[in-house]
Amino acid sequence: MILVLFGPPGAGKGTQAKLLEEKFAIKQLSTGDIFRGHIKNQTELGIKVKSILDSGNLVPDEVVVEVVVDAVSKEEYKNGYILDGFPRTVNQAKQFDTFLAKNNSKVNACIGLEVPNEELMKRILSRGQGRADDTPEKVALRLQIYEKETSPVMGYYKSTGIFSSINGVGTVDDIFKSICSELI
Ligand code: ADP
Repeated sequence: MILVLFGPPGAGKGTQAKLLEEKFAIKQLSTGDIFRGHIKNQTELGIKVKSILDSGNLVPDEVVVEVVVDAVSKEEYKNGYILDGFPRTVNQAKQFDTFLAKNNSKVNACIGLEVPNEELMKRILSRGQGRADDTPEKVALRLQIYEKETSPVMGYYKSTGIFSSINGVGTVDDIFKSICSELI
C-alpha cells in the first residue's frame, strides 16, 4: 500500500504515521526528516536546502521529487510506504504519479487530517523541538504556504477518487481509529 498522509504543519501526520507503520508493516517516509538529516550531516543537499527549511519556505519541486523517487526505490520500501510531508504541491503529486505509473504502481489512498489554524499554531509552538522554523512568524508563513501551494493537492487526489478527510482534533487513538476505518 502506498499511502499519503496529508495535512497542514502540526496536524499530527508524523504521530499517526508511526502508528500506521506498525499496523500495516510499511515504512514512513518524511521528506522533512530526510532534509533535516541531510542538514545535520552537512551533505551537499543539506547545505543547499538549509536556508530554505530555516525560512519555512518550500524546497523546489524537482529537488523533492528526486529525493522521494530515490528513497522509495530502495528495497525497504518495496511493500509500500506512508508519505508524510509529500507531495506538497500539485506539481509534485503529478510528477510522482508519473513515476509510479511507469512502475505499474499508484498511490492507493490520501488521508487528510483537518485541524483549525489556531490549534496548529498552539501545537507547533508548544512541541518545543527547537526547530528554526518553529517561531510564530515562520509558522504563520508555513500555514500561508500550506493554504496557497499545498491545499490544492487535496483537489488533485479528490479528482483521482482516493482522497478522504479525517477530523484531526481529538485523542491520538481516536484519530488513528478514524484513519484505519478509511483504509479497510
Ligand atoms: P511541517 O509539516 O511541520 O511543516 P516537515 O518536517 O514536513 O514539517 O517539513 C519541514 C520543511 O521541509 C518544510 O517547511 C519545507 O521547507 C521542507 N519540505 C518538506 N517536505 C517538502 C516538500 N514535499 N516540498 C517542499 N518542501 C518540503
